[in-house]
Amino acid sequence: MKFKNDKYKKARGGYSRLLNITCRECGSSVCEYQKDGSGSLKRMYLDRIIEPKSSIRRKDLRCLNGHLIGVRIIYKKENRQAFRIFVDSVIKKNIKF
Ligand SMILES: [Zn+2]
Repeated sequence: MKFKNDKYKKARGGYSRLLNITCRECGSSVCEYQKDGSGSLKRMYLDRIIEPKSSIRRKDLRCLNGHLIGVRIIYKKENRQAFRIFVDSVIKKNIKF
C-alpha cells in the first residue's frame, strides 16, 4: 500500500494515515481511506477511497446494509468529488503497517 502523494496531500501538510471505515449502525466495513492531514473526517474524497464495499458511483454513500453514510458533493475549493460524511455515521480506526 502506497499513499497518494499529490497537491491535495501537500495542501494538508504532507501527512497521511490509512483509516478503516465501518458503519456505526451495523459494523459492516465501508472502505479504507487515505486521510490527509489532521482534523476530523468531514468529507471522504473519491480519489482517496480504497476498496469500497459498496458503490461510490451513486449520489449517496451507503454501507452494504443500506445505512446512509454520506452524500456526494463537489468540494468547490479544489473542484473535487467527495462524500460529505454524516456526523457519527461511521467508526474510524487507524490501520497500522
Ligand atoms: Zn450499516
